[in-house]
Amino acid sequence: MLIPKHLEKILRVSEYDDLGTLSGQIVCECGCETFGIKYFGEVFCPGCIGMGEYNGKYAHTVKSVCRECGKEWLLYDFAQHGYDGLICKDGISVSDEELIDAVADNEKDFQIQMSIEFDDEEQFTEEVVEDPPDGMSFSPDDRVNIWSWIVIDLKCAESGKMLEGFVDSELA
Ligand SMILES: [Zn+2]
Repeated sequence: MLIPKHLEKILRVSEYDDLGTLSGQIVCECGCETFGIKYFGEVFCPGCIGMGEYNGKYAHTVKSVCRECGKEWLLYDFAQHGYDGLICKDGISVSDEELIDAVADNEKDFQIQMSIEFDDEEQFTEEVVEDPPDGMSFSPDDRVNIWSWIVIDLKCAESGKMLEGFVDSELA
């Protein structure tokens, strides 16, 4: 099963198929399922964030903060996991001070569902591994960290209100 290293400890996988889709719930290694959310991006509708601009490049990041043990986990960073962000170098990672706390109807505690689509294996091999951009090199193992689609849905822990498509971005 393809699972990005930074999610290995925290993604409770509910769906996986060999074509390259991975979905599940984020659960802290301490067992807690409730998190605060910190993000960078542009709010383009209530409860949805898209790519933002930062220093002339694009940035889009989501981190979760465990409400039980306080540990922070990176979920997604366009500059590290996006096809366009990493391979085409359109992305930039922002510092923690730039991140904003997500709030929905005064609620700051969420449960998190995440769904990742990986690039098609054959296409990745042909277009990225065998023909990388100048000065870069990729191995077949890199496919796990370079996504073509990311969806993050949030559920308010108290009211149960859903923020579907908090992030819903094509990355290739
Ligand atoms: Zn925890």
